[in-house]
Amino acid sequence: MRERASAAQFRPYTCAQSQLEGMEFRLVSSDKSVMILTIGDGKLPGSYKLYGYVKSENRENTYFRVGVAISGNRNNMIPWSSCTCNDAHFRGNPCKHSVKMKDLFMSNREQFLKENVRR
Ligand SMILES: [Zn+2]
Repeated sequence: MRERASAAQFRPYTCAQSQLEGMEFRLVSSDKSVMILTIGDGKLPGSYKLYGYVKSENRENTYFRVGVAISGNRNNMIPWSSCTCNDAHFRGNPCKHSVKMKDLFMSNREQFLKENVRR
């Protein structure tokens, strides 16, 4: 079962790009559709937990709040995810926003680890 995020943690449910300006993101995709705010260790060695924002593909100037855990194994499974989009809410599976955040981190992981001490 997936964890339920507390309401406080995931308010506002969506936000505009202007609301994200000035925040210090640790990893941002080139088109700014994925913006990762925090990158931390997951429960198991080599696993990660990310929080940030991912842009909606259908709704203009709308970002969802996304949290995703990535297992450290070769398959890079998503054992836990949370997103404020309807798909995540009603289907419960990792939505495309969670997958996009995972993909951005995984494609930058080596460089990120080189440049940053994990916190
Ligand atoms: Zn989503």
